[in-house]
Amino acid sequence: MTREMTSSFLIMTIAICTLIIAVGPSELLRIGAIDVDGHFTFKPSDLASVSSDFGMLKSPEQPLAVLHPSSAEDVARLIRTAYGSATAFPVSARGHGHSINGQASTGRNGVVVEMSHRNIGTPEPLVEPEEMYVDVWGGELWVDVLKKTLEHGLAPKSWTDYLYLSVGGTLSNAGISGQAFHHGPQISNVLELDVVTGRGEVKRCSEEENTRLFHGVLGGLGQFGIITRARISLEPAPQRVRWIRVLYSSFEVFTEDQEYLISMHGQSKFDYVEGFVIVDEGLVNNWRSSFFSPRNPVKISSVSSNGSVLYCLEITKNYHESESDTVDQEVEILMKKLNFISTSVFTTDLQYVDFLDRVHKAELRLRSKNLWEVPHPWLNLFVPKSRISDFDKGVFKGILGNKTSGPILIYPMNKDKWDERSSAVTPDEEVFYLVALLRSALSDGEETQKLEYLKDQNRRIMEFCDQAKINVKQYLPHHATQEEWVAHYGDKWDQFRSMKAEFDPRHILATGQRIFQNPS
Ligand code: FAD
Repeated sequence: MTREMTSSFLIMTIAICTLIIAVGPSELLRIGAIDVDGHFTFKPSDLASVSSDFGMLKSPEQPLAVLHPSSAEDVARLIRTAYGSATAFPVSARGHGHSINGQASTGRNGVVVEMSHRNIGTPEPLVEPEEMYVDVWGGELWVDVLKKTLEHGLAPKSWTDYLYLSVGGTLSNAGISGQAFHHGPQISNVLELDVVTGRGEVKRCSEEENTRLFHGVLGGLGQFGIITRARISLEPAPQRVRWIRVLYSSFEVFTEDQEYLISMHGQSKFDYVEGFVIVDEGLVNNWRSSFFSPRNPVKISSVSSNGSVLYCLEITKNYHESESDTVDQEVEILMKKLNFISTSVFTTDLQYVDFLDRVHKAELRLRSKNLWEVPHPWLNLFVPKSRISDFDKGVFKGILGNKTSGPILIYPMNKDKWDERSSAVTPDEEVFYLVALLRSALSDGEETQKLEYLKDQNRRIMEFCDQAKINVKQYLPHHATQEEWVAHYGDKWDQFRSMKAEFDPRHILATGQRIFQNPS
C-alpha cells in the first residue's frame, strides 16, 4: 500500500468510526454491506457536499452515506435494503442540488443518491435520430443532453431557463420555460421512463405500460420512484435565435399581448414567450441583464413610466441559417400585432445553444462576485389568468415596494398542454401565469436585501393571495404541514396518497419534500 493509500484508508476508517459512534453501527454496517457496482461514501466532505442546496435556507443536515450509483440496479439494491429493514431509512435522489428548501435531502438517518455525479457505468445519452428521441440517465444535466443531441442536429423541445439542472430533478417538478405555451412543460415531452419504486422494483413505464406510475412520477416530487432513465422527445434543432425584448408601462396591455402570443400555434408564431417585471433599477442590476449590453444600453428613465412599474416582454424566433433572409420580415409581421412602447425595442441575434445556455453566463458573472452562493428565498407561483391583474396591484405595485433583490419572471401558459394525469398541480383555468420571484439575500446588504426581510415578504405575498382569494398554486412547492399539502393537491390528493401507498408504502423516498410522515 502506498503512503497516499494508507492515509486515505486511515481517514476513511476514522470517518466511519466517528459515524458509527454517532449513529450506531447497525445502519452503517447494513449500508456498507450492500453490493453495488458504484460506491458508497461516508467521507465527511462528501456528506457535507450533499447536505445543502441552492436555496441555502436550512441548516445543513448530513446523511449517513452517499451512494454514487453506476446503474438502476445499484439504486434498487439500496432501496430494497431500506424497504426490507426492520426500521426503514430514507433514500433521496439528488439531481444537481438546485432545490430551495432541502427537497433532495434525507436528514441524518438517510442515504442520498448522487444522481448527477458521473460514475463509471452510468450511461451516456443515446440519441435515436430516426425515432427522434434521446435516452438519458436520470441524473444527466440538461446541458449535456443538449450537447449530445446537437451532434445529430436535434434538440429537446421544452426547456428550463437554466441548463445545469438534472433531468430527474426537473421531471419531478415540471420543467418550464418560454416554450411551455406551445410544447407544454418538459413532463409533457417524455415518452418512457425507468423508475425504481420505493419497494426497490425497477419498472419501465410509458403511455402503454405501467401508465399510472408513468403519469404519477412526472411532477411527482420524487415520491413514487427514482427516475433512472428518461426517453425525451426531440425536434430538429434551430441554428439561430432572434431574441427581442420590448417594454410596457400598462400591465393590461402587456398581459393582453402575452396572452395573444401564446394563443398562436401555427407556423407563424414566436417560439418562446416570457417576460419580467421591473419595479426598480432591476434591469440594470439583475442577473439576467447581460442582454442589455453596453452596445445596447437601456435607460429606464428614458421610457416614460413616472417611476412606476414597467413590464418587459421577452420573445424569440428560432431559425435556420438558410432562412436568415426572411426572418426579419417574419418578426416584423408578428411584432406589428403588439402594443409595446414603440421606442423600446431591444434585439439581439445568437446561436441557439447560446440562447438556451444564457443563464449560465449570468451564473459565472455572479460567482466571480461571490454573489451566487448566497441564500435564495425564491417564491414561484402559478396565478390564474382571471386574477393576474389583482396580483399585479397587490404584489408588484404593492407589497414589493420598489426593491426586489432579483428578477421577477412572469409569463402565461396554456393548461391544455399539461397532462392532467401527471402529478403536477396547476390552477383550474385554461391560462395561468408563472410568477417567479427569484431573489438573492445579502447578509451585508440593505435591510430590504436581508434574508428575514425577503422571507417575510414571501409570507405577506401568500397571505395577500389567501385574503384576496387568489387561488395560486406553488411551483417547486414547499409546505409546512400535511394540511397545506392536501390543499395544494386539491382534487389530486386522494390519487397522490393512494399512489404513495402503492409505490412507496414505507415512505422511504424524497422525505425532504416533507409531504408524508418519515419512514417507519
Ligand atoms: P434536486 O434539487 O437535486 O432535486 C429536486 C427533487 O427531485 C428532490 O425531491 C429530489 O429528491 C428529486 N429528484 C432528483 N432527481 C430525481 C430522480 N432522478 N428521480 C426522482 N426524483 C428525483 N425550474 C424550471 O422549471 N424552470 C426554470 O427555468 C428553472 N430555472 C432554474 C434556475 C436556477 C438557477 C435554479 C437554481 C433552479 C431553476 N429551476 C427551474 C428549478 C429546478 O427545476 C428545480 O430546482 C429542480 O428541483 C431541479 O433541480 P435538480 O436537478 O438540482 O434537482
